[in-house]
Amino acid sequence: MSQCCSSSHTANKTPEKHICPVNGNRYSSVPQSTILLHINNPWAWHNKSQAYYFCDDPECEVVYFGKDNSILEKSQMRTTVGIKEKLNNSLICYCYGVTLKEATNNTNIKEFVIQQTKQHSCACESRNPSGKCCLKDFPGKKSLTGKLTQTKNS
Ligand SMILES: [Zn+2]
Repeated sequence: MSQCCSSSHTANKTPEKHICPVNGNRYSSVPQSTILLHINNPWAWHNKSQAYYFCDDPECEVVYFGKDNSILEKSQMRTTVGIKEKLNNSLICYCYGVTLKEATNNTNIKEFVIQQTKQHSCACESRNPSGKCCLKDFPGKKSLTGKLTQTKNS
């Protein structure tokens, strides 16, 4: 299920990860086509022919950065990047409009999203600013698998 919206064929051309010039951590690449769907005035973006990356650190103002260390900050986005806000009403699944609060209170939602991704009905690469599947951002994964292991063991 983690294979949904895989863009590994495009990732092969560029280095997989690059260091965010602001917080110094390594992040995965994101297609330029995804960036254009989330920034303000995409027609005015001076993008270069290079790899771009997505920083998901809530403490960091950078959303996208290029291999040349150019940056696009939160203030330059028209999409609110939920995983960088950590607010209850911020979106974690952009395909189906799931907020962090909803995902926490109703674990059935994750099941629904898993079913949709299995059928390749999701559109994470376009709708999610990270360009990746949103399932990894769902909360409570540990407690869910914990419950499952418990029942298996007993
Ligand atoms: Zn950063």
